[in-house]
Amino acid sequence: MEKRKLGMWLGAVGAILLLLSVATKLWWSGGGMGMGLKVGPLGAEACGELGCAGIDMAQIGGGAWQGVGYLVFLAGLGTSLLGLGVVWAAWTRKPIGSSRFDLNKMVVRLGAASIVCAIAFAATRPSQAVGLSMGVGLYLAVIGAGLLMGATLVLGQGVPAGNQAPHGTACARCGAPMRWISEYGRFWCDREQTYV
Ligand SMILES: [Zn+2]
Repeated sequence: MEKRKLGMWLGAVGAILLLLSVATKLWWSGGGMGMGLKVGPLGAEACGELGCAGIDMAQIGGGAWQGVGYLVFLAGLGTSLLGLGVVWAAWTRKPIGSSRFDLNKMVVRLGAASIVCAIAFAATRPSQAVGLSMGVGLYLAVIGAGLLMGATLVLGQGVPAGNQAPHGTACARCGAPMRWISEYGRFWCDREQTYV
């Protein structure tokens, strides 16, 4: 398979898995006495015969643990959105990122942060939740972030990084300095965001 397509698939699947992981309450589940409890990074929910009700995360595991849950959410969301930006750049054959902002590196760093936060959130499972069993949330987060980081590696070889220095040549249409994108053999105008 062409590297660009492989990277796009890895990135798209990774972003979906990671978004699912931060949205789902299936990080832990369990219960008893007719009640079912589900816990995720953004909240917990208890379901019984009368329906479901939200439970304060700070009450389950304390404020610090709740904070780690928010970090899992923010890092996962950020990695997914930036990763989708990388996929979009590959899809449209644009340089990834800009001359100042290396999108590939950001995805790798945020992806690593996502994995660390997810493992920290899982490892510090509150003692009150001992009766709960592990769900798919952590695995979705780790696999999703891993796929996104892998996608940037694959795409880094097939799609130009955006952080190449401007070429001396000015754009004939708007006069802004252009970048030479050797992978595509064309000049890229940063001001117009297009190949010239
Ligand atoms: Zn231009």
